[in-house]
Amino acid sequence: METQSTVFPQFAFLPVELRLAIWFYCLPRRVVQRDDPYMIQRLREKHKCWSIRPSLKNAAPPRIASVCRESRQVAMRWGKMVSRDYSWNLGPIWIQPRLDTYHLNFTAEAAWDYDLDVELLREFLIDGLNWLDGVPLSLPAEYCFDFDLEMRDISMMRQTPYIEIKDNLADEDLNMVYNEFAYHYPRPFANVSLSATMAFISIHVKKEHAVASDLFGLLLDAPVQLVDFDDEQKIRSFRALFESNSSNRKRTEVIQLLSLVMSPTFRSRVHAWREKVDWLMMATAWLRAKMNWENCIPFDGDAFAAWNPIIKEYPDGQRLVHMRDGDNYENQFNDDNPWVIQAKKELPRVAPKILFMLCTDDCDVDGNVGMVPSLEHPPTRSDYFEVRGYEDL
Ligand SMILES: [Zn+2]
Repeated sequence: METQSTVFPQFAFLPVELRLAIWFYCLPRRVVQRDDPYMIQRLREKHKCWSIRPSLKNAAPPRIASVCRESRQVAMRWGKMVSRDYSWNLGPIWIQPRLDTYHLNFTAEAAWDYDLDVELLREFLIDGLNWLDGVPLSLPAEYCFDFDLEMRDISMMRQTPYIEIKDNLADEDLNMVYNEFAYHYPRPFANVSLSATMAFISIHVKKEHAVASDLFGLLLDAPVQLVDFDDEQKIRSFRALFESNSSNRKRTEVIQLLSLVMSPTFRSRVHAWREKVDWLMMATAWLRAKMNWENCIPFDGDAFAAWNPIIKEYPDGQRLVHMRDGDNYENQFNDDNPWVIQAKKELPRVAPKILFMLCTDDCDVDGNVGMVPSLEHPPTRSDYFEVRGYEDL
């Protein structure tokens, strides 16, 4: 068999535009994560990976930046190191706003525990929309609406979204994600790219298998990837890679997760979830317009002419509009109404995704970090800077 040559001395003789184009195509397309430094233990538990290395690798400049001056210039043109006061991340992050997606790697529960949800989400969205030039954004599904991935106890969940009708609305009554968009971004929002991660799956494999799979970038410098929740073929490729490592047979929770995200039940639940998120965004847009808040989509007339939902009155004076009330009724929007048409055209549409993260460390299954260096809990920011610079990876 002919061996493939790994050297190409003619490269230097190519026209400069061609060389620059080649360097550009070598840049990774990444999902940059903003990792929660204070809840790292909880994230590790949830994601079944105990190594900090994938996160730090993912935050590092692309591999080609260190090849030569020309390649570095290309890398610098498309990306920048963000190292401003990052109390919400493990350390500085390399971001390519036109090529990457910016993901909020927090569990929603952790943010809620600390009453950080609104503040954190606001900061994240403002960063993405303004300061990072409108980079595509991604966040855990729960920030948009409850989603029970494991399908364990759905009785504990809010099944149906609702909004509260009040004379003086407070922000927290509204769909947080859309409301924050509306505050900080001029209409229309149609060019906003927003993904929601329905599942986070860590893939533990050896480097050579990961390279051969071509799933995590040419040079493995894109260790986090987002895949459409219904892209069966792509999900199968990730599963095949996972199965290429025989020691993964012990990772029963990940095996279950992989079968789960390929099941029709999962997909129909995601569809139902997205329907609820869309409804919540529309209802929030309607309320904002009713209150005539900034960047709202104005009515041509009365609010109730655009949408006239059944308002449920409670003995304590609370007035709620539910998406649906069992089999009794649904408060759907009339697709022929001009305001509804306009709102549907310009509101952000959330794309449900599965997030895959590559770890080339041999993390243990049961939570003992094994070969992976451990960190004290709770860590402080300086732990990451002192213990692991990018050069050690
Ligand atoms: Zn790991």
